[in-house]
Amino acid sequence: MTQHYLHSKESRNFARKINSLTNDEAEQWLASARWGATDKQGCPACGLFRKHYRRAKTRRWRCASCSREFSVTSGTPFHGRKLPFVDMIRLFAAFENGAKGQSLLEASRRVGCTPKTAQVFFGKIREWMVHAMDLCPLGGAFTVHMDGGYFGGKPRKPNRRARIPRRALEVRFGKKAPKNQNQPWIEAGMTYQNWCKRARKRVVISLCESAGHRMGSGRVMAFVCSGENEAEVTRLAKNFLSPDARVMTDESSAYSTLGALVAEHYTVSHANEFSTSEGVSDNMCETLFSRFRRSEYGTLHGFRPKYLQDYTCEFVWRENHRKHAQDKRFRILMIGMMTAPTSRWWAGYWQGRCRREEIGLDYFLARLPSTK
Ligand SMILES: [Zn+2]
Repeated sequence: MTQHYLHSKESRNFARKINSLTNDEAEQWLASARWGATDKQGCPACGLFRKHYRRAKTRRWRCASCSREFSVTSGTPFHGRKLPFVDMIRLFAAFENGAKGQSLLEASRRVGCTPKTAQVFFGKIREWMVHAMDLCPLGGAFTVHMDGGYFGGKPRKPNRRARIPRRALEVRFGKKAPKNQNQPWIEAGMTYQNWCKRARKRVVISLCESAGHRMGSGRVMAFVCSGENEAEVTRLAKNFLSPDARVMTDESSAYSTLGALVAEHYTVSHANEFSTSEGVSDNMCETLFSRFRRSEYGTLHGFRPKYLQDYTCEFVWRENHRKHAQDKRFRILMIGMMTAPTSRWWAGYWQGRCRREEIGLDYFLARLPSTK
């Protein structure tokens, strides 16, 4: 029997390397991720790539052409960092290692930094993941599964079990407007805290392309949408599904327009079965959402809507890279981060600056070359 990829030698030997790393070696790792070499550097100001004059005490280089000084993190998301290089490597490893995410407090205890340092560091990684998500249309040769999942805003269970009147349920789920607009939670039969929590609930719609028979998903993307409805599904299908795609969904009415937008559309009735005898299911989406939800409940303990898309992109990245050996996944992450531009959303976080707006599907559609 072939060995499972999680049990391979590469997967466990990496921890030894990280534990015995020195600060000089860590700097070399970062330099080789950024420039592909440890003996030559590219000046971030003028771009000259050669061996520059080294100032060993400050761990910086002086450019031979423009005389500006730079370090290995100048011009990257970690521009102006104070963390030692070895701690950066350990934070990368801690982040990449958590199949169901990485808790800030746990990372801070492991590395010896404050939770806020870990928060900003991980926030910058997620920012990169938002921009690194592959938006090329899915479909063609392989089946695509599509489904929506609700995240955030889980209400606390009531102390006593009681039958909820029909009208209260209708107000709760937005089917009827409350008479008293100032205190709608009373008519909905909820506490004020639970009413506020519900307002933080969002829907994430995921598209998962199969990697082949019994191989799970190959490429995944997921977006925070305004609702699981026809309008959002149409926008997703027009931009992220190729017209010849074969798509499988559940029987939700939101997917009723799909048949006209893609070549083949099959549905599975979740009231009866997860997968039909012909093999129609949306199980790849359920897998992604399962890991994401385990993380929400067990590791991260909830998301704010403002950062839900960032977390979604993190789990899309984890899903897409889940079959790589740990050192390979670590290297992909490190190269991606060290060749990314400075952070827009997290630079100046310590001085009180941060991203104010919630992002979702609209943010990605605006970034596409031409929105259909
Ligand atoms: Zn220069």
